[in-house]
Amino acid sequence: MKEISCKLLVIGAGPGGYACAIRAGQLGIDTVIVEAAKPGGTCLTIGCIPSKALIHAAEVFDATRQMAGGRNAMGIQVDQPSIDLAGTMIWKDGIVGRLTSGVSGLLQKARVKIVSGRARFRDGKTVEVETETGQQIVRAETVVIATGSDPVELPALPFGGRVISSTEALSLRQVPNRLIVVGGGYIGLELGTAFAKLGSDVTVVEATARVLPIYDADLVKPVTRRLTERGIRLFTNTKAIGLSKTGDALIVEGPDGRQELPADHILVAVGRRPRSVGSGLEDLDLDRSGPFLRIDDRCRTSMRGVYAIGDVTGEPMLAHRAIAQGEMVAEIVAGKKRAWDKRSIPSICFTDPEIVSAGLSPIEARAQGYEVKVGQFPFIANGRAMTMQDEDGFVRVVARADTNLVLGLQAVGSGVSELSAAFSLAIEMGTRLEDIAGTIHVHPTRSEALQEAALKAMGHALHI
Ligand code: FAD
Ligand code: NAD
Repeated sequence: MKEISCKLLVIGAGPGGYACAIRAGQLGIDTVIVEAAKPGGTCLTIGCIPSKALIHAAEVFDATRQMAGGRNAMGIQVDQPSIDLAGTMIWKDGIVGRLTSGVSGLLQKARVKIVSGRARFRDGKTVEVETETGQQIVRAETVVIATGSDPVELPALPFGGRVISSTEALSLRQVPNRLIVVGGGYIGLELGTAFAKLGSDVTVVEATARVLPIYDADLVKPVTRRLTERGIRLFTNTKAIGLSKTGDALIVEGPDGRQELPADHILVAVGRRPRSVGSGLEDLDLDRSGPFLRIDDRCRTSMRGVYAIGDVTGEPMLAHRAIAQGEMVAEIVAGKKRAWDKRSIPSICFTDPEIVSAGLSPIEARAQGYEVKVGQFPFIANGRAMTMQDEDGFVRVVARADTNLVLGLQAVGSGVSELSAAFSLAIEMGTRLEDIAGTIHVHPTRSEALQEAALKAMGHALHI
């Protein structure tokens, strides 16, 4: 049995773990990272990247299909297109392969030792890892738990057969004829829309009163409209009860009573839970916040010298939050004075159209006791949106009424995900409406709607 000791042991090489290990390596900390699967974690292998690849392929296919069969407004002509999903998956796997080997290279460059295998805690500072060449013991002064999350399984719909999670959905070799999605959240709507664009007949079953309940109704409205226009059926206030006796339909119960919905695949996307199975994490008896590990503003758990970052610590389960936590913890371990001081964790839902949000929505700002000014500028008055043949949506700014300090920025529309950088920067830098309004925004771009929203909040928009 081999034994190694190190200053810092990171368990899990997803965005949180690999960012932590790379920064620790750069700071000269003797670091070991243990990974049971591929470096890159959920995000690179079965999450963000594969889903965005599929979404893009579906968009291209859909746009091509809409052009087929005659002249369209732009005068483009194409023959009847078809898609070989197995080929799409090979393309997607190529991107994943490039990124995961890139992460390995970055870890090596930072002189981080990578141990491949599943880590199991012996105690808070020691793990045993089953590697290909036998068992390895790793002892460390400081441990970072970055083991991520797994999809939640519904007791009445266990995964297997027709019932799949996002992992299997992102590896399908054929486009299902009928796809039912249980859960109208991030995964359900991003993948549900992608499969509808690929040609599936899609139904979404959501337990609450509307889809994407984490975003306010104004932001979600253009998305819901387009889902419906596309023929996606939305069952809200509806619960999935289980499979029919024949196993080829989902029984649901909603405002109209019980009904059976036939399906080739049922994608269950009702949230994620911390990944701890087989890692001995339960035996450490760390404090929890619900099912997740409880952390403070330095990502410290209830055990001295044991930190936790990323999805294992709960919502928002986003890759960029995990990366920011990982980088911060590495600096803390190196002795730097750091604490979580981010003003916002921006989020994007890659639906059609996209939604982006940073900081507070008007409802959230008012709930926190602020008197607010809200400026909203629609893409219907934006030249670039017209040239891109997609005028749905708007940019919205929320500012304090007394000081004009920007509290929140949101948008819904085609391609608005790329506005997220400007939104986050504005909030992180404590900008006021005057700063955004006084910044020249390039014409013609969708970003002009940001400047116009700020002008509108001050009462003098130019183009509306
Ligand atoms: P993970 O990425 O889950 O990595 C944890 C790693 O730890 C894994 O590689 C795992 O193998 C390893 N591990 C676990 N236990 C052990 C052990 N005992 N020993 C050794 N290794 C272990 N977020 C976004 O910000 N944007 C998106 O667009 C987005 N899209 C998503 C799409 C899908 C379909 C899914 C499922 C998720 C998506 N997410 C997205 C969420 C994002 O993937 C996660 O927030 C992110 O991966 C969390 O990073 P992490 O480092 O905490 O954990
Ligand atoms: P989610 O929390 O986004 O959505 C789950 C949805 O399922 C909610 O709308 C909820 O009301 C509904 N629901 C819960 N139980 C249900 C039931 N029994 N029947 C019907 N509906 C039910 O979770 P998700 O879509 O599984 O995504 C998991 C996590 O992954 C998210 O927290 C998100 O942070 C992350 N993610 C992010 C992105 C992104 O950043 N673009 C994309 C995908 C996933």
